[in-house]
Amino acid sequence: VSRSRYDYVIVGGGTSGLVIANRLSEDPTISVAVIEAGDQVFNNTNVTSATGYGKAFGTQIDWAYESEAQVYAGNKTQILRAGKALGGTSTINGMTYMRAESSQIDSWKKVGNNVSWDSLMPYYKKSEYFEYPTGAQVSMGASYSPEFHGTEGPLSVSWPTEMVGNNFSSTLNATFKAMDLPWNGDANSGSMRGYNVFPKTFDRSLDVREDAARAYYYPFATRPNLDIFLNSFAQRLTWSDDNSSIPFANGVVFTDKSGAEQTLLATREVVLSAGSLRSPLLLELSGIGNPSVLENLGIEVKVNSPFVGENLQDQTTVDTNYNANTNFTGAGGFIGYFNATDVWGNNTAAFSKTIKASLEQYANRTADASGGITDRETLLKLFKIQHELIFEDEVVISEIIVNPPSASSGLIEYWGLMPFSRGNIHIKSANSSAPAAINPNFFMLDYDIKQQIATARTARKIAMTAPMSNILTSETTPSFDVVPLNATDEAWDSWLRSAYRSNYHYISTAAMMSKELGGVVDDNHLVYGTANVRVVDASVIPFQVSGHLASTLYALAERAADLIKASH
Ligand code: FAD
Repeated sequence: VSRSRYDYVIVGGGTSGLVIANRLSEDPTISVAVIEAGDQVFNNTNVTSATGYGKAFGTQIDWAYESEAQVYAGNKTQILRAGKALGGTSTINGMTYMRAESSQIDSWKKVGNNVSWDSLMPYYKKSEYFEYPTGAQVSMGASYSPEFHGTEGPLSVSWPTEMVGNNFSSTLNATFKAMDLPWNGDANSGSMRGYNVFPKTFDRSLDVREDAARAYYYPFATRPNLDIFLNSFAQRLTWSDDNSSIPFANGVVFTDKSGAEQTLLATREVVLSAGSLRSPLLLELSGIGNPSVLENLGIEVKVNSPFVGENLQDQTTVDTNYNANTNFTGAGGFIGYFNATDVWGNNTAAFSKTIKASLEQYANRTADASGGITDRETLLKLFKIQHELIFEDEVVISEIIVNPPSASSGLIEYWGLMPFSRGNIHIKSANSSAPAAINPNFFMLDYDIKQQIATARTARKIAMTAPMSNILTSETTPSFDVVPLNATDEAWDSWLRSAYRSNYHYISTAAMMSKELGGVVDDNHLVYGTANVRVVDASVIPFQVSGHLASTLYALAERAADLIKASH
């Protein structure tokens, strides 16, 4: 029987939330509740299947949020996917386990956080149960350096049971070599450039997806001090009415399974882990946000936190298709990561200068696009850091995934990793279940399309370079009719703006930064201006990482759990 008062109430039983729930409830004297809008999906084959990526899209476990019309990309809206289930987006994602460039995590220091790659590494390892590849898997491209992996954590990380054979990886490796891209023996080392066959959040012994619930909840479900409220939709926080100067959240109001409104009381803390496209909305609905947003909707301002929902960043993905003549079976992930010099060659230095000279204009446009909420000076500082990452630290900026083709078709998908455009997400109504205004401002700033064009050209080159060109015989999307072989930037530009989709890597809507730079939480994940509200999920990540988000979120949540424990 569930109670109604807990030490900690966590909103969102997803990728990050279940880490916090698990670690806090290790102490049997501490009570923890999780409020999760979705159901459990233990036996859902759209979730568990090794090759089922995409099957859950559009089903009831996909929130499928809709963006505002994207004015820099044909005025079309985008579907923004996110998991609605115990396990959150880790139940529907691509399972790629890929961290970040070390310099990207180190850059968080420059925006006021005491976090570095070296200090996060123990948490990457703490979360990880790394399954060493078998000899057969090594021959199919699996490769690692043991010093970067943990083997005692809850999260299974491995190569899929049925990998892709038939020399697919060595064919790709030879192709990348011919393009001067080296083999990378472990791209989870903090140094990502090169070609690699990446591990996945996957349980090899059971041959199923490893989602956050399988890693962090089911094996611990019998803990009497941990309660999960499924099919329960959180609406807002409640505030203690003692007149302490710093607001203290003492509970969460939610709609339960039956549609009834209930409240859970929190005696210590409320942790928001509802994801980048929800946690900022819950802050606003609770009176934490920009007064200009809240007052219009009749919400009393509890904490003036002007940048809640700002700094939204995502990437843009494109799929291209090929005729193919060889059939490969099995699951696998094959990525080439390229840096600025790889894609711009001798033009890189000149291009870097052009972009540097544009940063002021980028800052102006971004401030205008936020309706004046964010300011030019601050944005300029952030953009300079990003420029350094791209052109001085040379983080990888292009991700190209080559999927194993069937006998008739092959798919290459790619995206630019470090776009500058920033948008925002805000509530449009005081009704917590009403849709929000979500605007990533895709392609607002011209670096972003240039990065995407350079990535597109590189991806096309893969298919035209031997030995890959012996397998992928001709391009069907976009095809040389639509984007000719020696297409101008303009031709690529117009196709890419029409063919892209969201990469679903939304971040920074409750950014972890100093207050002066527009942060919403400090480096303890504590929301500025509150006594006991934390945000622990992708909302806090201040700059895009070149990896995929989940591995870094597991590590960050492990770190956050330690900080929460230490603060009491
Ligand atoms: P989530 O895991 O989304 O958790 C949020 C939870 O909060 C959800 O369970 C949700 O139902 C719940 N919730 C929301 N609102 C409420 C409410 N009001 N009340 C109660 N509960 C609520 N990353 C990778 O590393 N590798 C990949 O291959 C990869 N592929 C991806 C593919 C897709 C299609 C998508 C969408 C993302 C992908 N990502 C990938 C990104 C990554 O999975 C996510 O960034 C990450 O899982 C987000 O974790 P989170 O903790 O921020 O939120």
